[in-house]
Amino acid sequence: MIRNDTIVAPVTYPGKSSVGILRISGINAKQVAIKILGKVPKPRFATYTKFFNKNHKVLDQGISLWFPAPFSFTGEDVLELQGHGNPMIMDLLIKRILSIQHIRLAKPGEFCERAFLNGKIDLVQAEAIDDLINAETESMVKGALNSLEGSFSYYVTNLVERLNTFRIHIESSIDFAEEEIDFNFDDVISLNFHKLNNQFLKIKKIIINKSVIREAKKIIIVGPPNAGKSSLLNVLSSRNRAIVTNIPGTTRDLLYEYINIDGFLYEIIDTAGLHNTENEVEKIGINRAWEILKTCDHVLFVIDKTMDIKIQNQILHDFIKKINSYNYCVQITFILNKNDLLKDDFDIKKIGNHYFISISALTGQGLDVLRQHLTKAEKNKEKEGLFVARRRHVHQIELSYNEFLKAKKIWSNYKNIELLAESLRLINQFLGEITGSFSSNDLLNRIFSTFCIGK
Ligand code: GDP
Repeated sequence: MIRNDTIVAPVTYPGKSSVGILRISGINAKQVAIKILGKVPKPRFATYTKFFNKNHKVLDQGISLWFPAPFSFTGEDVLELQGHGNPMIMDLLIKRILSIQHIRLAKPGEFCERAFLNGKIDLVQAEAIDDLINAETESMVKGALNSLEGSFSYYVTNLVERLNTFRIHIESSIDFAEEEIDFNFDDVISLNFHKLNNQFLKIKKIIINKSVIREAKKIIIVGPPNAGKSSLLNVLSSRNRAIVTNIPGTTRDLLYEYINIDGFLYEIIDTAGLHNTENEVEKIGINRAWEILKTCDHVLFVIDKTMDIKIQNQILHDFIKKINSYNYCVQITFILNKNDLLKDDFDIKKIGNHYFISISALTGQGLDVLRQHLTKAEKNKEKEGLFVARRRHVHQIELSYNEFLKAKKIWSNYKNIELLAESLRLINQFLGEITGSFSSNDLLNRIFSTFCIGK
């Protein structure tokens, strides 16, 4: 895509340093080279040159690099000037460059945006550049590098390819009269559903096991009233933030707290007890808890271990049934609280796919086990080929998987091929928003405006 305007920005951090780099990208970058350097440097060679002002007086001297389109980061003609890292010199150079026609200052993230729009990188890779620059832990750096190399995009692209095979099949059969359709059409559709479902489950598992979410990990504390949820939030955050009473329904809305465990940042959310209630305010809180749960990475389901075991089992069963029906990408750990009132060990047990940890939020016993359990998953990821995902990516995968399940249901009920085609098209769109193959201006603005100038 050719744009008429050419952009310039410093790509090094403002302030004094030995080297300061300016990047110029666009159709007039060649003009800039001629005016500032007196010539266009040899492509992809480091050339030592003088940088001149309007009156042909030397402003600075340093290295110039010339990357003619399309073999540059942005896919456009790119000139890089590496001068002395003095803000005054950089400022004079920028002013001089801006005095040339059709050159303007780059907006935040605009170099990356152009690279994306010219097909040099996809949206996940553009975000990975931002993540790499802002990474604060070693695992974030590794993850961002892997994402930049396209490991996450690879999984998404595979899923989209599988979907497209299905779509081609469906779209092409729309044009045939019913009697012309293959007699085993239904089997073909079932097979495609089956393959696509496997692919979805694979990517969901990969997200849970291999992704480092750029934002703080979200942990939500849920469970019946009076189980000790607020006490758990307080003891984890070492603050008396939530009101603790033995009156059920004290926490009627959501409480947020940030905690750091072993260098990993978590956002902990305490919720209203999940139970059937006639109280309207409580009802709103409970609905909000279910809403927010889908955006979380880990659920701590707290239960009062001193309760009748049959009631406990019923509560757990109802919760697992409900959460499974939503298909959220979320890990669940059951917290058996008030263990101080029993003679049991403060330990962790795995039953089926779930972990059960006995603790006392009152005395703090068992909390080390819980903390280790929370960080274990993160540490394991560091050993594997992890990548950085953003909450936006996880959300799009969930949107598309839910649409996929809806499509399956509609097909089994109505066998309507047009409805199925429309659902598959929607899924394609949801997935395409991850890598940017489908992207609105609004989405692009939202993403690139969070980058800083020069990226
Ligand atoms: P929530 O409604 O689930 O948020 O429960 P709270 O945190 O408000 O606790 C309800 C009651 O249980 C309060 O009286 C707490 O002091 C008590 N409690 C909470 N955790 C424990 C615990 O581990 N042991 C004992 N013995 N009492 C607890």
